[in-house]
Amino acid sequence: AALFQPERPNSKGHDLRHRPTLHALDKGRDAFRAHRWQAGPLLAVEAAQGADEPLTNPADPSDRVGAVTLATPEGARAAAQAAQPWQADAATRARVLNAAADLYEAHRDELFAILHREAGKTLLDAVAELREAVDFLRYYAARAEGAPPRGTFACISPWNFPLAIFTGQVSAALATGNAVLAKPAEQTPLVAFRAVELLHEAGVPRAALQLLPGAGDIGAALTACGAVDGVAFTGSTETAQAIHRSMAAHLAPGAPLIAETGGLNAMIVDSTALPEQAVQAIVESAFQSAGQRCSALRCLYLQEDVADTVLEMLKGAMSALETGDPWQVATDVGPVIDAEARAGILSHIEQARAEGRVLHALDTPAQGHFVPATLIRVPGIEALEREIFGPVLHVATFKAARLDAVIDAINATGYGLTFGLMTRIDDRVQHVTDRVHAGNLYVNRNQIGAIVGSQPFGGEGLSGTGPKAGGPLYLDRFRQQPAPGAVA
Ligand code: GLU
Repeated sequence: AALFQPERPNSKGHDLRHRPTLHALDKGRDAFRAHRWQAGPLLAVEAAQGADEPLTNPADPSDRVGAVTLATPEGARAAAQAAQPWQADAATRARVLNAAADLYEAHRDELFAILHREAGKTLLDAVAELREAVDFLRYYAARAEGAPPRGTFACISPWNFPLAIFTGQVSAALATGNAVLAKPAEQTPLVAFRAVELLHEAGVPRAALQLLPGAGDIGAALTACGAVDGVAFTGSTETAQAIHRSMAAHLAPGAPLIAETGGLNAMIVDSTALPEQAVQAIVESAFQSAGQRCSALRCLYLQEDVADTVLEMLKGAMSALETGDPWQVATDVGPVIDAEARAGILSHIEQARAEGRVLHALDTPAQGHFVPATLIRVPGIEALEREIFGPVLHVATFKAARLDAVIDAINATGYGLTFGLMTRIDDRVQHVTDRVHAGNLYVNRNQIGAIVGSQPFGGEGLSGTGPKAGGPLYLDRFRQQPAPGAVA
C-alpha cells in the first residue's frame, strides 16, 4: 500500500482560468520571448563534438530559438566508458531528485517558453508537461530504496514530451542508482539540456548523468557499444525493433529494453452515451497537443443510431478550436513538430480528400508547420495502415449487433495503448473492457493525460514492453533482479 502513497502529492500545476495566475505566467514567459538557447553535449569526459545545428520554432520557422552542438558516435562511446553509477545512498538520491523537481518548478517560465518555441506546445500542454515531469521526479524519488542498479542505462526519448518523458526515463534510472546516457530527440535538445543542467545543479554527479544530443546515429552508437546494461526508449515501434536487434547483437543477454511505442487508439461511443460528454472527450483526445501523443484517439467508432447527431456536434466543437501560435493563450491546436511531419500528415489528408472521405477540416495559418484538424471517414480501423501522428481523426460507424466485431478489429491491429468507451450501460463497460487489449482503458472521459502514480501508462503488443511508466513496477526493471529467495 505504501507504494501508492508518494511522500509528496502530485504537483498542482496552474489553473489557466484564474486570471492572476494567467497574468503571472504571461509576464514570466515574456523574458524568454526572443531568447536564444545554446545546448550541447554534457559529458564526464573530453570528446570530439559534431556540427552546430540551428533550432527554429515550428509555429514560425523564422523564429530562431537557439542552436545545439551535436554529440558524435565517438563521444557517445567515450561517455559510456566514463559513466559511473550513482554511488549515493537511496535517501540522498531521493533528496537530490526532489531538489531537482523544485528547481524545475522554479524555472517554469523558461521551461514553458522553450516548450512553446522549440516543441510547439500550447500553454495548457506546457503546464501539463511540467507537472508530469515534476511528478515523475518525486514519484520515483519516493521509491529510490531497493535492489542495486544494473549499471548504465541509455535513455532515448521523443520530441512529443521532450521534458516529461525525458525526465521520466532519466529519473527512474537515477532513482535506482544507475548511470544515465541521455539521448534527447533531435528536434528538442534545448529543453533536455536545461533539464540536465538543473539535475546537475540539484546534485546529480556528472558521471551519473551525461547528455548526448543528436540523431539516430547517437542512439545506435549507444546500443551497440557494449558498455550499456539497459535501454529505456519511447518512440516508434520500428525504432524499438531496431534497438532490440542491436541490443541482441551487442549487449549481454537479459539487458532490458523498456519501450513505449506507437498506437492505433480507438474509442467506441454507443447510443446511450451522453453526446456532449462524448464530444468533449473526443475533441480533447484527438486534437489536444495537435494529436501528437501516443495516447491520442485515431479511430472513433460511433453507433449508427447516434452517429449523425454526434458528428454534427463534433464538427461544431471542432470549428470553435483556434489553430495558431502556441505562445498565445487562446490557441487550442499548435503546429506539428516539423516540415517533414507536416508533409506526411498532409499527404494522408490529401489522399482522403481525393477519395471524398474528408468530413470536416479547419483552417490554419499560412506560415509554420500547421496541419488542419481534420475528420476523415473510414469503414473501420483496419483501413488505417499506420499511425498518423497529428490532428487527424478517423470516424467509422457500427451497428449495435456488431460491437464484438469492432472490438476484434481494434485488437487485430496488434497495437494496444489507449482505448476509450462512452456508454451508460454498466454491463457493457465490463464486457468491452474485458475484451479490448490496451494498456490504458478510459470510460466516459478523454483518453489522454495519464497521471503519474494513479494511472501508470504503457501499452501491450506493438505498443510497448511495459512495465508502465509512473507505476509501482517500473523501477524494478532498472534494478538487478534479487536472487531467488532474497525477497523477504
Ligand atoms: N502519457 C501521455 C498521455 O497519457 C502520452 C505519452 C506519449 O505520447 O508518449 O497522454
